[in-house]
Amino acid sequence: MSGLSILEGLNENQRHAVTYTDGPLLIIAGPGTGKTLTITRRILYLIHTGVRPSEIVALTFTNRAGREMRERISPYLTEEKNGLFLGTFHMFGLNILRRYYNRDFRLIERKKQLEILKSITDGTLKKAQALLDYISRVKNLYDVESMKDSAFLKYEEILKDKNSLDMDDIILKAMELLKTSREAHADIARLKHVLIDEYQDINPLQYEFIKSLYGVTENICAVGDIDQAIYAFRGADIEHFLNFKRDFKGAHSIFLKENYRSTPTIVQASQSLIKHNKKRIAHPLESMSFNTSNKIKFVTVNNEYEEAKTIVREIEKKMGATSHYSLTQNDFRGEWDNNYRFSDFAVLFRTNHQADVIREAFVDSGIPYQLIKDVFYEAIEDIIDKLKMSTNEIPQGKNIAHILDDAFATADTEGLLGLKRNLLHAYEALQAEIALKKVTDELYLFRSPDAIDRSSDSVSLMTLHMSKGLEFKVVFIAGFEEGLIPYSLANTEEEIEEERRLFYVGMTRAKEELFLLCSEKRHVHGAIRMCKKSRFFYEIPDGLMDEITISKKEKPKKRPKQQSLF
Ligand code: ATP
Ligand code: MG
Repeated sequence: MSGLSILEGLNENQRHAVTYTDGPLLIIAGPGTGKTLTITRRILYLIHTGVRPSEIVALTFTNRAGREMRERISPYLTEEKNGLFLGTFHMFGLNILRRYYNRDFRLIERKKQLEILKSITDGTLKKAQALLDYISRVKNLYDVESMKDSAFLKYEEILKDKNSLDMDDIILKAMELLKTSREAHADIARLKHVLIDEYQDINPLQYEFIKSLYGVTENICAVGDIDQAIYAFRGADIEHFLNFKRDFKGAHSIFLKENYRSTPTIVQASQSLIKHNKKRIAHPLESMSFNTSNKIKFVTVNNEYEEAKTIVREIEKKMGATSHYSLTQNDFRGEWDNNYRFSDFAVLFRTNHQADVIREAFVDSGIPYQLIKDVFYEAIEDIIDKLKMSTNEIPQGKNIAHILDDAFATADTEGLLGLKRNLLHAYEALQAEIALKKVTDELYLFRSPDAIDRSSDSVSLMTLHMSKGLEFKVVFIAGFEEGLIPYSLANTEEEIEEERRLFYVGMTRAKEELFLLCSEKRHVHGAIRMCKKSRFFYEIPDGLMDEITISKKEKPKKRPKQQSLF
């Protein structure tokens, strides 16, 4: 790729962000302004100007995001492309440990951690789980004082005896290693550029890690949006964002102001909403979209079953006659619009509990969907166990596809199958043993958003948290009600602000159309609860929304089955 084409199509501020390569840089920008795109181009630009791929580290929030970036960059890298690191903090830390920590260390799974913790508490799962959460928090908050607690020390001792590390140790130990191992430090000293996407969500441990890399290179480029910080509950701290200039001396900041993703209506509505947060860096955001600006649809329905059916019907309507799925449906209302694919739609919700009813409606309709629920870690651990058995000896002629088929043989959820497809896609070209090692590492570091399969033509059903960084033509947000959005456990002003940011993330995933659905009644723990529309409803200007009520009586009449069109 030539220098010119790397900058092609970028606006002035994006170009500035790509080409400002001397010293710390903070790119502050709203959703859809091309932050992720800018990081991708910046990597290409750096390589174009002579920086070696192995001198660049780009840290992403999920493995999936890292992989997507790699796919975009790979065609333009001719040599040495394997030296470029693009992935999560954890994966980067693990790479350091694999090279410089003692050779035989094991990563332990959650169930083993719980066994250990049971042995040092009263033997109950409840206590063990509470202690596990505590220890994880101490590590992620980099709470050095609490690391001296007796329970913490006992746990660490047992882990040391077993030559094992837990997931949270990865960054912690990698960071220590950079201080204590000359080889590790010498290796990392090669780095010339560190790039971090989604900087607003880093936690104190990750922050310490970045600071330790800052000792190696001043070229730290962080990209983020404080209005999209949604991981305070996991210890992420937006203060890091606010303090960037103090912590990284001489840092330059660049604002991106143009939103290329969403229609003016969606941009204006989301800006009106987020202005209600006090803790933010206000900056303008303007839609560059030429799409006709449909109003946001605020749809009131009777209950959660109607909510799910309304979503399905709307997708069928939009897919129109081009879809054979619609042709088999009674509700078909034949609009000739063939501009959509199933993957253009997403249904977002606040809690995993809401997923089942929505999923049933998709099953009934025959519309292909992928539900990215929190995949249970036990299922992943089972798969890791099976893979470990393969590690001992890979029979001749077996490739990673065969191995994955065996290990995932009993996996039946869309999340797991999506994950399997992603792994296969990423590693099938590698030699079996190397691929197996990479697959196992990735499964250890698994996070639910990794299961999203962007190549499958299906409607995505996922929590608001998982939708970060993604975009869809049409977005449905289900359960736009008090108790769900904002969630009932959010009480303090800070927590409500976080819920507002989460809803903001959801809204700003939409490129063309946004549907907010509110149920009048909802089943909660076996009882029926009467619901009120979300308080955030009142923060979106009236003129940008159409209100629609679908009561039982007004349910669209069923039409007879379509006759053959030909
Ligand atoms: P988020 O905050 O949601 O992560 P982002 O700032 O990372 O968003 P991107 O995902 O990089 O934004 O870009 C959003 C969309 O805008 C993408 O479809 C991208 O291709 C497009 N885009 C970004 N910059 C430009 C540009 N200069 N010209 C045209 N399209 C652009
Ligand atoms: Mg992004």
